[in-house]
Amino acid sequence: MNEYDSGKMADILHSNHNYVRTDSPDNADVVILNTCSIREKAEDKVYSDLGRLNELKELRPNLIIAVGGCVASQEGESIIQRAPYVDLVFGPQTLHRLPELISQKEATGQPQIDISFPEIEKFDALPKAESKGPTAFVSIMEGCSKYCTFCVVPYTRGEEFSRPPEDIINEITGLVDQGVKEITLLGQNVNAWQTIDNFGEELDFTWLIEQVHQIDGLERIRFTTSHPLEFSDRLINAFKRLPKLMKQVHLPVQSGSDKILGQMKRGYTAKQYLEIIQKLKLACPEISITSDFIIGFPGETEEDFQATLNLINHVEFDGSYAFIYSPRPGTPAAKLLDNVSEEQKKQRLAKLLQITDSAHIHFSNNMVGTTQDVLVDGFSKRDTNQLRGKTANNRVVNFIGNSRLIGQIIPVKITAIAHFSLRGEIPQLS
Ligand code: SAH
Repeated sequence: MNEYDSGKMADILHSNHNYVRTDSPDNADVVILNTCSIREKAEDKVYSDLGRLNELKELRPNLIIAVGGCVASQEGESIIQRAPYVDLVFGPQTLHRLPELISQKEATGQPQIDISFPEIEKFDALPKAESKGPTAFVSIMEGCSKYCTFCVVPYTRGEEFSRPPEDIINEITGLVDQGVKEITLLGQNVNAWQTIDNFGEELDFTWLIEQVHQIDGLERIRFTTSHPLEFSDRLINAFKRLPKLMKQVHLPVQSGSDKILGQMKRGYTAKQYLEIIQKLKLACPEISITSDFIIGFPGETEEDFQATLNLINHVEFDGSYAFIYSPRPGTPAAKLLDNVSEEQKKQRLAKLLQITDSAHIHFSNNMVGTTQDVLVDGFSKRDTNQLRGKTANNRVVNFIGNSRLIGQIIPVKITAIAHFSLRGEIPQLS
């Protein structure tokens, strides 16, 4: 989501003020830190980065320093108090006002702060999306109304709000016209997307996927991140019915202990989560499922952690992201006694990652020798002589090939695994 938002900031500053992106802050007239506050570490980084930018500003006093994103939303004016050389503070829902904020700063010499939640206005104000390659993100809903006790999102991005379907379809059609083949629908709770049509009928996320599916030239659809609560049977069946919907789901569970899930206010039990997974695997046996886990939530006992490991063994996730619990300002869980020691948290995290990483390698090994449809999206990060692409189940594959293949979906034979990616080769025609 932040990557998508950063792209939008660059687009709007280009169209309104003719700014272009540079590779280094040394060449910049404006430096924007687009921040994340989901965990404490990301937040700490903002202030250390700002310290470095201040040194640049001492050399070039006209440099404009802006802080956007969720840390800006959370901290507001206190950013300016702590770092008075910051010129602009804006939230995820006011990024479209950047050109105006810069003009006001230049006119008044005063720092500008706008961390309000004007919702729809943002998307209306943004310029037409420009493709940066064969894959693109499209934000379809923002914010979150779930209020999980650990999570800062409802306070920094506001409540759930769905973009109108016409806007979404227009954005995607425009991107496909520019050669985009794969779209990832984005939202903090992407499957909570909903709208009401002219006849008063409720339309859900599955309906939206069906509309996107009809767009000619679009070949692949993904979405992230979904919440188990709105993972309906209709959505599960869509994986069976809709060939463009890639057989891959990221469905955060957070914990396998009902006690902890209750305290997190997730709204489901481990059993209910497992039922969704079972139905998904039944509808689509080859589906790749990944998840998120929080380790060391206040009160997590060895038994609770064991319940999480049991759930992992049951599901056989294709991959996972695990995070040590980080108390977030203003969230209900931040008031709970954090009684799990750092040592225990680290041990549990290591144990969990060992299991989930080896499952990932197991699935990768199973892919070796198979031929996969790969959307070639550019050059390999490590070796620019190689191409890079993604399989239907969202694995990165690097292989040798002609750069003319970028933007196409081609068969690639998987030859080996390389850490978290795969190596492949284009099969020789015999
Ligand atoms: N909307 C998604 C979560 C998006 S945030 C959901 O409800 O599942 C991405 C991940 O960050 C979460 O899934 C969670 O595992 C992690 N996370 C969020 N808040 C956290 C916190 N306070 N401490 C540690 N991890 C956290």
